[in-house]
Amino acid sequence: MWLDECPSFWDEGRVRPLVTESGKVVLMCDSCSAVWPTLDDFKEMEHVEPDEPDWTVTAGVHVRPGTVRWASPQDLEVAGMSGLKWRP
Ligand SMILES: [Zn+2]
Repeated sequence: MWLDECPSFWDEGRVRPLVTESGKVVLMCDSCSAVWPTLDDFKEMEHVEPDEPDWTVTAGVHVRPGTVRWASPQDLEVAGMSGLKWRP
């Protein structure tokens, strides 16, 4: 599932919901390393680029490889994000 195309002009990735180890759902591009902590951050184009060693998105939230997975429709419902225009 994806929400929108990556806003980076040089990238053709898609922005997808990602479940982090903390349970918080963030938005991440499936092509570049951009992560948006919240939907508002995406709307305001305020992305972060988490990197090793801590892969921090915001306090208490990280996207360390192996600890995250793409969100399912049920994850989005739990996160209160199911009302958005997700594309299959
Ligand atoms: Zn991207």
